[in-house]
Amino acid sequence: MKNNREKKKRFTVSFYHDWCKSCGICMAFCPQKIITPGKEGKPEIFEKDSCVGCRFCEMHCPDFAITVSESNISRRRDNE
Ligand code: SF4
Ligand code: SF4
Repeated sequence: MKNNREKKKRFTVSFYHDWCKSCGICMAFCPQKIITPGKEGKPEIFEKDSCVGCRFCEMHCPDFAITVSESNISRRRDNE
């Protein structure tokens, strides 16, 4: 039986805080609930490995302040 953890897809969520107006849409609607308000209510990811890459946050941000990119990691990197 194959272990599908061998090549887990990972995603990087980047916020452009200068464009963000702290509306909270991304935090409210992330299905994984991994976006939380940081400084001045600007979003931060607190469990990046739990991101499923649905891009809901990116698509619904009214200020285009979020970018989700995929990174295929086949081996674990420990330099984070
Ligand atoms: S891509 Fe989906 S799971 Fe990842 S942070 Fe955005 S809304 Fe949440
Ligand atoms: S949806 Fe966009 S503008 Fe609203 S809090 Fe999130 S990043 Fe900021």
